Amino acid sequence: MNKVISVCPYCGAGCKLNLCVENGKIIKAEGADGVTNQGQLCLKGLYGWDFLNDNKLLTARLNQPMIRRKKGGPFEVVSWREAINYTAHKLKEIKEKYGARSIMCTGSSRGTGNETNFVMQKFARAVLGNNNVDCCARVCHGPSVAGLQVTLGNGAMSNSIADIENSDCLLVFGYNCADSHPIVARRVIKAKEKGAEIIVCDPRKIETAKIATQYLPLRNGSNMALVNAFAYTLIDENLYDKNYVNQHTEGFEEYKKAVQAYSPEAVEEIVGLSALQIRQAMRTYAKAKTATIMWGMGVTQFGQAVDVVKGLSGLALLTGNLGKPGVGVAPVRGQNNVQGACDMGVLPDTFPGYQKVTDADARQKFAREWGIPFESMDPDVGYRITEVPHLAIEGKVKAYYIMGEDPLQTEADLQLVRKGFDALEFVVVQDIFMTKTAEQADVILPSTSWGEHAGIFTCADRGFQRFEKAIEPQGNVKRDWEIICLLATEMGYPMSYADNKAIWDEVRKLCPLFYGVTYEKLAGLAHIQWPCPATEHPGTPYLYQNNAFDTPTGKGQLFAAQWRKPAELPDDEYPLILSTVREVGHYSCRSMTGNCKALASLADEPGYVQINPEAAGNLGIKDQDIVWVESRRGKVMSRCSINDTINKPAIYMTYQWWIGACNELTQDNLDPVSKTPETKYCAARIVKI
Ligand code: SF4
Repeated sequence: MNKVISVCPYCGAGCKLNLCVENGKIIKAEGADGVTNQGQLCLKGLYGWDFLNDNKLLTARLNQPMIRRKKGGPFEVVSWREAINYTAHKLKEIKEKYGARSIMCTGSSRGTGNETNFVMQKFARAVLGNNNVDCCARVCHGPSVAGLQVTLGNGAMSNSIADIENSDCLLVFGYNCADSHPIVARRVIKAKEKGAEIIVCDPRKIETAKIATQYLPLRNGSNMALVNAFAYTLIDENLYDKNYVNQHTEGFEEYKKAVQAYSPEAVEEIVGLSALQIRQAMRTYAKAKTATIMWGMGVTQFGQAVDVVKGLSGLALLTGNLGKPGVGVAPVRGQNNVQGACDMGVLPDTFPGYQKVTDADARQKFAREWGIPFESMDPDVGYRITEVPHLAIEGKVKAYYIMGEDPLQTEADLQLVRKGFDALEFVVVQDIFMTKTAEQADVILPSTSWGEHAGIFTCADRGFQRFEKAIEPQGNVKRDWEIICLLATEMGYPMSYADNKAIWDEVRKLCPLFYGVTYEKLAGLAHIQWPCPATEHPGTPYLYQNNAFDTPTGKGQLFAAQWRKPAELPDDEYPLILSTVREVGHYSCRSMTGNCKALASLADEPGYVQINPEAAGNLGIKDQDIVWVESRRGKVMSRCSINDTINKPAIYMTYQWWIGACNELTQDNLDPVSKTPETKYCAARIVKI
């Protein structure tokens, strides 16, 4: 048996594991002694590999290039040469006819790796001539990136996953780590065992709430009001660090004025908590010697998410909880390489290494390195994936090249997304499974999977980690970056790399933030956090040391915004609030985990709608009943799960199933800055069948 070192492809915790290989097949996975997981794995890490053995459980693995020559016609298996020629010809034709900005691309936050994401954004910028490249950060932690870049200078976790257990106080806000990052949840438990205070703010009584020292079950959609009340309390009770605020922050007077209307007493009705609960939480947070704020989708998937992120970082700035061990702000990224996709510039506003596309010097540098005229670099920020349906309907986007994403299942308001896809002239899907989106493609480019190729991921705490190839791929497939290079070359921009290291060396050369992270340094169990500007640099476990912020003035920026109501409130017709959540045993659209026998057997039925016992009783619904769940956008059938962890009048569904897909119901009210949809709040109703 051969053991191959890898990194789990299922969440941003970045657990190191060994894939155990016998006769060319993977027979098991076992935890390796990685920095974040210390030999531990959750269910997905332990059992999420057997789709690689192509067990043909649910969904067909893509193993041949295919073309659909007529909309609605059948797929035809073709050679790679024909698939590449056909795709390149179509993309060139669309670019010439409608302009460079008419083509949109996605990178992938899943198992493909940083090298591929780098090559994909280079394809968009150097070959297509636009910045229309984005990834699923847009629908998860895009607001954390946008908010923290303004207030602190970097849109990432300021601390390390391993350091979470060393904090004296964890403020866990809208973050169900037990389901989304079980190995991070283990650090929260360890912190509790070491005596930390755990403050949990979440409408649902999630697992972490059960170990909380203070649990604040706030009302759905009231985040901004509660964060402002926290800030008010810190100032009102003189709990903030005046010296720190004076020396290291800017904007305090305006901030103080902005939160003036949010005394805990004034917001009791909005947030559904007593003033004492709010004040007590902040007394605990402020008095802790070291305190960390962690958050997840319960903060970011709202139409006012960027404001809330700025508000949370304001709490850390008010109390000086940044720039040293045991403290910080921790937006814990969801998909395993969503941090990496952002690092590699799979964002419409930044080149790799967070260099702005609007900065002429940065454009000059990339144009020079890539051997293209400066004038051909698009100076404008590109489109976001959540804007594509609207832009396609308006006729502005005509072609969509999608790598390792499934927007026809994972985007909000699927009816709108389908209309957008119907309006597109040409769709290319590069993936490993026949997803809902692949079913609509004009061209399918089948790629290798995690386990079948090597690469580098960045886990949620900015840590780069290498993973190795364990088995040979089956079928006529190619590595993602090889496919993109073939297309670029066919479109007239010769692009090729000898191997992953050659790509990574180009990344390092162009990105001062990552320069010191050599391929060699990342061998084995290494985990190196950016910034790492020199080869002798060990990496940066926590940002903002010596209170030096990466903002234009070097100071932390305090911002507060007024609370806005969610866009679609419950009413007589739709009296419930629908929020999306996750299923612990599955990942994203389930194309990978749904094809793993052990995981499929744990949760083998389309997701439940979770409802409070009293609310269910009022509707005459019993546990396990099958019901219609309806919103103004559609209806889906689902089984009911009645449990008392659910608050009234909310109901919760996972987005991970295409039967009973809750994105038929969600809405695309977008945060005005990050363009992230409000999938945590829309009006809904349950109809008994
Ligand atoms: Fe670790 Fe996340 Fe994989 Fe679980 S899913 S083993 S927590 S990386």
